[in-house]
Amino acid sequence: MKTSVVIFRQLFEPVSSTYTYLLGCPETGQAVLIDPVMPAWQRDLQAVNDLGLQLVMTIDTHIHADHITSASLLKREAGSRIAIPALDGLPCTDVGIEDGVPLQVGGLHLDPMHTPGHTDNHFAIAAGDRVFTGDALLIDGCGRTDFQSGSARALYESVRGRLFALPGETLVYPAHDYQGRWVSSIAQERQRNPRLGGDRSLESFIELMENLGLPYPKFIDYAVPGNRACGVCPDGLPEALREYCPQMAESPQG
Ligand code: FE
Repeated sequence: MKTSVVIFRQLFEPVSSTYTYLLGCPETGQAVLIDPVMPAWQRDLQAVNDLGLQLVMTIDTHIHADHITSASLLKREAGSRIAIPALDGLPCTDVGIEDGVPLQVGGLHLDPMHTPGHTDNHFAIAAGDRVFTGDALLIDGCGRTDFQSGSARALYESVRGRLFALPGETLVYPAHDYQGRWVSSIAQERQRNPRLGGDRSLESFIELMENLGLPYPKFIDYAVPGNRACGVCPDGLPEALREYCPQMAESPQG
């Protein structure tokens, strides 16, 4: 796992404040997108093309509740394979992500790490000097644990037991940030993550997560079925939520 990611772009999707990551192999020209989001699929594919790369794989770190993946659209447009945690058992999966089984994209080795807690089947992806933490570990935060088989107990172990065991200098690239922050490190999160860093105990983390008082996610009832189909916008989307699936109205490629 010493491969450095030589070609790298961090792309932001503002509707759901999601980061999508482009990783490319300079030798083979093969590229992968981690957590691509539907409204931004053309921008993301253009970014791949502008670098002279070919998109061969998309990776979803988990079944998202706040946006719909563009995995199926990108497969249709670019021929990329759809990688999703094998534990989800989705028939639309081309590559089932499994703990400890590297994903190969040209010369890039990506190491999936099962990190349950935000969802039970959630994965982080380690790649050389960085780790894509999905919604398990965010900068100064973590994903919520109150939906989709979430478990604060499991997340505590995933973050403190697995992610914090990575070398301190490992760069942390989360799936979201809502305050314009881009990157952190394992050492920084170990030290000052207000939810999981320092000497936070399991008991106090569980209590904290149980008392966040977060609202019901406004898109979850559409996003989860859409993502279980690898990226299909459900019919009957209310007007207020159409920005999550703008391509449905346009179908620009015919
Ligand atoms: Fe999520």
